[in-house]
Amino acid sequence: MNKLIVQKYGGTSVADSSRIKSVAKRVVATKKKGYKVVVVVSALGDTTDQLIELASQITDSPSEREYDMLVSTGEQVSVALLAMAIHKLGFEAISFTGAQVGIITDASYSKARLIDINTKKMEAELKKGKIVIVAGFQGVTLDQDITTLGRGGSNLTAVAIAKALSADACEMNTDVEGVFTADPRIVPNARKLNTLSYDEMLEMASLGSQILQARSVIFAKKFNVPIQVRSSFSNKPGTLITKEAKEMMEGVVISGVTCNKKEAKMTICDVPDRPGIAAGIFKVLAEAEINVDMIIQNVSRTGFTDLSFTVPKTDLNKAVRTARKAGKDIKVESVIADEDIAKISIVGVGMKSHPGVAAKMFNVLAKNKVNIDMISTSEISISCVIKKKKAEAATRALHDAFGLGKKK
Ligand code: ASP
Ligand code: MG
Repeated sequence: MNKLIVQKYGGTSVADSSRIKSVAKRVVATKKKGYKVVVVVSALGDTTDQLIELASQITDSPSEREYDMLVSTGEQVSVALLAMAIHKLGFEAISFTGAQVGIITDASYSKARLIDINTKKMEAELKKGKIVIVAGFQGVTLDQDITTLGRGGSNLTAVAIAKALSADACEMNTDVEGVFTADPRIVPNARKLNTLSYDEMLEMASLGSQILQARSVIFAKKFNVPIQVRSSFSNKPGTLITKEAKEMMEGVVISGVTCNKKEAKMTICDVPDRPGIAAGIFKVLAEAEINVDMIIQNVSRTGFTDLSFTVPKTDLNKAVRTARKAGKDIKVESVIADEDIAKISIVGVGMKSHPGVAAKMFNVLAKNKVNIDMISTSEISISCVIKKKKAEAATRALHDAFGLGKKK
């Protein structure tokens, strides 16, 4: 039986007609090797951003249903164009929207959850020998309302289809060669990783490396779908993300360093030190749908304490307003915001079994005269908030100290 492969192509890979033609060639080359191919595509270039911008020129509180109706259109354009490009090469292909192919979701617009994927239609077309092209990022509710799966959702579409069809491989074709030990724009000798575990990829995704949508990695982990991240513009194999990274040798402690400049720090000063205060503040922030990340509260020796946390920069104004309002009710004196920060993190499953990783990280920062503002840890990562202007040098220093660079 022919092996089945799901190939996803991101927005930059289909940014214009000539790139769509190259993708068509790659898809056809895969088909020629004897694979059954399902292709999932994103919208052309930054179409989705443009659609969101258009909506914002009309209203800042669009109906959620209409918002998804709008932003899902980008992918309908790319699937049709790719089908045409494949036809032009003399191969059979058929494009589908998420609704047509039966990607059923709940009605939580703009972050819809998958309920079911109907494989009948795809299987029937594959059986006829056709290349099946599915619009990424979108689904449909049982009431026939169009939904979307969150930004970067084409990744999730691809992984979910790979699972539903029990595909032999799921490829994410993107504009980078794979997952690197650090952002190569910051760390010139960053190295491409051959393998990485789901957990490490998840940490990297949530810590600011934007290669894969986090939801798609969570899904892949849950159903054990291996993901190959590779470049649309080369034939190199990229990075394989699986349960246990095969590359994990003894001694490999850290897999990557990330640098996230998209968060800001807020401090609520002189918070009364009694039960229920933190609960009150974070409840209001949660109700305003603000994602709070690192949280630090110090001991209080005066009956008052300072409470610091980070929020996405894009939510900062709203968060400050919300906290000030909440603060008035509980007599909190002042709310300070600091946008001048960056969060640098080291990630690696190896740190579970290696003591002293945190000490080494702090030592590297100290040697480089970087002051640490906040610290947080997970089982496989350590993050520090530092001054933004020191972030890139600190990232390079950590990358070096943990021996991640290309061997010279
Ligand atoms: N076009 C959507 C976005 O830009 C989905 C995707 O690219 O995966 O978020
Ligand atoms: Mg996109």
